Amino acid sequence: MSTQVQTTEEKEIQIDTSKMSEGKRQALEVTEAAREAAWDHPSFSLELFQGRFRSDLMFPYPVQNADDAKKGDEFIAVLEKILAAEVDPDEIDRTGEIPQAAIDALARAGAFGIKIPKEYGGLGLSQLNYSRAAMFLGSHCANTAALLSAHQSIGVPQPLKLFGTEDQKRRYFPRLARGEISAFALTESEVGSDPAKMTTHAEPTPDGEHFILNGEKLWCTNGTKAGLYVVMASTPPKLVRGKPRPQITAFIVERDWPGVEVVTRCHFMGLRALYNGVIRFTNVKVPRKNIILDEGKGLRVALTTLNTGRLTLPAACSGASKVCLRIAREFAAERIQWGSNIGKHEAIAHKVAFIASHTFAQEAMSFYSAALVDRGGADIRLEAAMCKMFCSEVTWKIINETLQIRSGRGYETAQSLRARGEKGVPVERFVRDARINLIFEGTSEIMRLFIAREALDPHLSLAGDLLNPKAPPGKRLAAALRAGLHYAGWYPGLWNPIPQSFKVHRKLAPHLAFASKAARKLARRLFHAMNRYQASLEKRQALLGRFVEIGTELFAIAATCSRADSLAAAGGASAGGAIELADHFCWEARRRIEENFVAARKQHDRAAYQLGQTATAGQLAWLEQGAAQFPFR
Ligand SMILES: Cc1cc2nc3c(=O)[nH]c(=O)nc-3n(C[C@H](O)[C@H](O)[C@H](O)COP(=O)(O)OP(=O)(O)OC[C@H]3O[C@@H](n4cnc5c(N)ncnc54)[C@H](O)[C@@H]3O)c2cc1C
Repeated sequence: MSTQVQTTEEKEIQIDTSKMSEGKRQALEVTEAAREAAWDHPSFSLELFQGRFRSDLMFPYPVQNADDAKKGDEFIAVLEKILAAEVDPDEIDRTGEIPQAAIDALARAGAFGIKIPKEYGGLGLSQLNYSRAAMFLGSHCANTAALLSAHQSIGVPQPLKLFGTEDQKRRYFPRLARGEISAFALTESEVGSDPAKMTTHAEPTPDGEHFILNGEKLWCTNGTKAGLYVVMASTPPKLVRGKPRPQITAFIVERDWPGVEVVTRCHFMGLRALYNGVIRFTNVKVPRKNIILDEGKGLRVALTTLNTGRLTLPAACSGASKVCLRIAREFAAERIQWGSNIGKHEAIAHKVAFIASHTFAQEAMSFYSAALVDRGGADIRLEAAMCKMFCSEVTWKIINETLQIRSGRGYETAQSLRARGEKGVPVERFVRDARINLIFEGTSEIMRLFIAREALDPHLSLAGDLLNPKAPPGKRLAAALRAGLHYAGWYPGLWNPIPQSFKVHRKLAPHLAFASKAARKLARRLFHAMNRYQASLEKRQALLGRFVEIGTELFAIAATCSRADSLAAAGGASAGGAIELADHFCWEARRRIEENFVAARKQHDRAAYQLGQTATAGQLAWLEQGAAQFPFR
């Protein structure tokens, strides 16, 4: 895969930071400097926000070639055998440990080096096959999926694949492929969503050959078992246009080096066997040759790694949704209440329809995005972030609906069900395991901000100087001319009433026509909001969030219709029902889109913000009276 990456690093930041608090300005400048900025192929989703429904970027749905599919099938067959023999997800949940025999068997099968090129000892499989494996793992055991995903989606293999030097690849890929576990260490106690506050620091030695690393990382998944870490640390600031700009650098650090210490293992509501911990670095001597990419490029390494790494989680979520579908439809068919199986009652039938249609959409989005990675050169930032946000949130709802369908049995643990002679269906565990998906690898809120930032980028690139009062008058005038010329052609086109036509199954064509019209409306609304709020638009998170949700639903509609159309045209087992699944999904997505458009027009967001401020300031503390005032110790 060739990933063409340029960043905004040396360019001026396009957002007006003059009225921001120091903390916010720093956070924004650090993340802005690490944004990727140039790609070979356009993004379907970015085009959507510009009002262009580029069906040529979505149709025909990418079909895995036979050779690649065979490699994936063979690997998944191996995985299936290992998981069946060695991985008991309920036992892993109960004990909080993944048996070493399971880890060893997975390592022997190459599961720790799925995408590592063969020449370095890995399996060299495609992103699509990796996503298929993640889906399979996610359907079987969330703890095992997290172990393998943290290792190779965000741990050492992925950044090494993207940015590693030949020397780094030769030194580390074979170890990683053989099963040496790796971890990604960014988060600190004060650094959650905001990397600018990083205190872990690496200072170069006088000869410049090494760095001395000090600091403590929090919630490092695999951290307690890893032999290798990607550690993000601040390094001495660099002068950019006369001002010191904070630098973050990514280092490969070995567990055996003096000064690396696992302080504690952390425990959570779910993912009970996550080897997650606090890792301390005290005067650790790290060779300069272990920097990934370059000094000061750490955040770019992290963000770019996450762009692809983020596709694993939605695939794993789709796997969990598929299991829920089986659980829900089996129970709906066998449980008799009020004279018929509960699946016959409309309330339950609708839940099953929701689960099936949204599982189909998740898979369509995830596989489409994985195929883009395999093709190379595509800008998948938006698609990956949308997949992450959408699939984590949808899987959470699907699991909740599955629990509701199984009701009392959904709430009961698998162990308890088994103890009284019923099947140990682990929906209760699914709830605990799935909640984290909305938090790690970018919280849902941060995903919305990230997507909104990328959606606005074409406008900011064109007219950013116009909106920035700090920009010199000459630059503002140039931006005004540039923007005037562009918008005079672009904006009237957004009102084009002629519907786009689509050569797809007759049931799907109206959904695509709706989506292309809605994309134009979305672009208009975004443009109006930019004009209205100008530089303060970034503060209107609720409004931006609604636009992001609309864009994501439009991407989902397109991917779902494309996949359904392709399955129906190909015939075979998957053809039966694919159109109906897509049709139902589209109706649901259209309803949510309409609701979001209405909500975006209403002016309640500011009132909600004010109420939030009042409550946060403690002025509504009287409402807490009547509840126990126990101290949290
Ligand atoms: C089980 C688990 C595993 C993890 N694994 C790893 C790992 O392997 N490596 C690693 O480095 N980290 C890891 N993390 C950390 C994880 O990525 C962070 O928890 C996540 O980034 C959020 O940070 P935080 O919890 O500190 O929340 P905060 O950043 O403190 O945010 C709190 C809340 O405020 C919201 N928020 C924050 N900023 C804004 C804003 N500007 N606008 C609107 N809302 C905002 C957030 O969305 C969130 O809802 C893990 C965490 C857990 C719990």
